[in-house]
Amino acid sequence: MNFYVMTLFPEMITEGLHTSILGRAMDAGIISLEAVNIRDYTLDKHRHVDDYPYGGGAGMVMAAEPIARCYEDILAKRGEAKKPRVVYLTPWGRVFNQNMAKELAQEEDLVFLCGHYEGVDERILDEIVTDYVSIGDYVLSGGELPAMVMIDAISRMVPGVLTNEESGTTESFENSLLEYPQYTRPEVWNGASVPEVLLSGNHAKIAEWRTERSIDRTLMFRPELIKDAVLDKKAAKYLRAKQQEKTEE
Ligand code: SAM
Repeated sequence: MNFYVMTLFPEMITEGLHTSILGRAMDAGIISLEAVNIRDYTLDKHRHVDDYPYGGGAGMVMAAEPIARCYEDILAKRGEAKKPRVVYLTPWGRVFNQNMAKELAQEEDLVFLCGHYEGVDERILDEIVTDYVSIGDYVLSGGELPAMVMIDAISRMVPGVLTNEESGTTESFENSLLEYPQYTRPEVWNGASVPEVLLSGNHAKIAEWRTERSIDRTLMFRPELIKDAVLDKKAAKYLRAKQQEKTEE
């Protein structure tokens, strides 16, 4: 999978993402990342990328032309007829989640446009953007961190990026449940013991315990998710009992 990021701060993207799991995936050629500097596509000698907003108001707006030229260059580099999806990071977009990460991981190429200042001239957005995405209800200074968040989450869904395929499928949000508690050595730390069932070697019992803890945690932190969880008979019965307990409280 190839990621292209149109940004005013390319080093932030490349340095921030070329580490750990993603760095390894890039070195192995499973994913590629190119951060393209929009400023390299300005036509004026002062390399301005922004200007005052029409109608007045605070701040500056990123101009359409350098972004259009930057985008055209990415298309030319790809040399494919099919246009890629272009994600504009913006606080007013659809809020990013794990399902969106999975869906976007099916694409071969993805282009991100990082805004800065007060945002971007609407006309270039109308021209090239296919997806408007926010990473949450708060305002950041630029689209770079949101792009990095998305690229990290999407990459984890690309086959071969995680060495143990399992860890991508048992994580939080899989099947609309949050992950169960995890423990490692020592067995007793600071007077607290690892739950006995995890030491039992009984895989069925361990799986049951984990599902129940996932249900508990989801009910505690993200109760709105649980309606979409697909549960076996035993787990569904456990959930009903928990919900009953709650209504009686
Ligand atoms: N004036 C814009 C508004 O009120 O919607 C905010 C502009 S913000 C200071 C600059 C840039 O940061 C945006 O163009 C966008 O690319 C990025 N950005 C800020 N917050 C974001 C968020 N929650 N999710 C995604 N991108 C965000």
